[in-house]
Amino acid sequence: MPRIGQGIAKGLGITLRHLFEKKVTRQYPEYRRELPERTRGMLTVDMDRCIACLQCMRICPDHCISIEQTKRDRGGSGKPKPHAVGFAIDDSRCMYCSLCVEVCPVNCIYHTEEFEIQAYNRLELARQFGERPVDPHPTVKKEKRAVAKKVPSRRAPATEASRKEEAA
Ligand code: SF4
Ligand code: SF4
Repeated sequence: MPRIGQGIAKGLGITLRHLFEKKVTRQYPEYRRELPERTRGMLTVDMDRCIACLQCMRICPDHCISIEQTKRDRGGSGKPKPHAVGFAIDDSRCMYCSLCVEVCPVNCIYHTEEFEIQAYNRLELARQFGERPVDPHPTVKKEKRAVAKKVPSRRAPATEASRKEEAA
């Protein structure tokens, strides 16, 4: 059975131990700690392997990924296949959930160890990977926002008194 105050004593013991330890100052960014395996840093995509299946774009809960797809006969087989001409990842929205990485059938989108992201405005945080730039905030979302604005606000149901008031 735990004794009363045992937890506090244990906690204070740790505090006291650290109080007299030699202090270590790490000179970041000159000194960089080795990151653990499976670190989720900024995403990157290998465009040579991407098959433009759009699964990463569809699964992303934050709509960070935008892909412009076309059909192209890359292998010279005479059968044009989906090809991503534009591919953008918006780092300002990404929450590093890794769903896009898990869903990719050819493992061409993956996390790097890069985590230092800086820009003067949010739009600069969208990185382009394809042959041509693609809008990182696709029109479908703008349309959805426009429709949402048009929906009239709900009114309280009319009562007998209010109906009489309106008729008067
Ligand atoms: S890690 Fe998550 S939030 Fe970031 S792009 Fe992939 S699915 Fe979207
Ligand atoms: S899931 Fe992979 S293969 Fe499919 S579009 Fe995304 S990055 Fe390309």
